[in-house]
Amino acid sequence: MRTSRRVVLALLAVLLLVGAAVAVVRFEAVDRIRERVAPEPSPGCIADDPTSSGCVTPATLAAYEAVTARFAGGLVESTCWSEHAWNPSSDHPEGRACDFFPTRYGTFATGDDLTEGWAIAQYLRDEAAELDVRYVIWQGRIWYRGAFFADADGGWGRPYDGGGVYDAEDATGGHYDHVHVSIRR
Ligand SMILES: [Zn+2]
Repeated sequence: MRTSRRVVLALLAVLLLVGAAVAVVRFEAVDRIRERVAPEPSPGCIADDPTSSGCVTPATLAAYEAVTARFAGGLVESTCWSEHAWNPSSDHPEGRACDFFPTRYGTFATGDDLTEGWAIAQYLRDEAAELDVRYVIWQGRIWYRGAFFADADGGWGRPYDGGGVYDAEDATGGHYDHVHVSIRR
């Protein structure tokens, strides 16, 4: 009698532990999916863009400030808001994107500039959760945060084809002169 009671109690304890573990994993997964599918809504393009007369979202401003503070010495130019009239799907007119130029506009980054560009791209990738990064484009590759194949094929995103808007062979179109970052909100 005593032994069978002990067995029942042990079984109950195991069930409780398994149930708790399942709950933790499930809720964490649900949170992650929710965050990925429907992040906190954007408060909109309400902050002054330090690089233009336009606006940026608060999260974009924070990312801009983080990158420029860290890579100040190696950046030739940075631009966030722009009208981007030729590309209606761009995040720039929404104030949710910035371009960081480690080299002169229209030139292919080489040497130290190329190294600097990779450092910026890698920083945005490493800090993607913190900075609310949606994707990064650099050196003809696009890295999507959370994408299933984000790190496949050479370890840095997927080849970037210009999305039908840019000439991916071009220094600017293929993002060989600047690191583009899109922010989620
Ligand atoms: Zn851009």
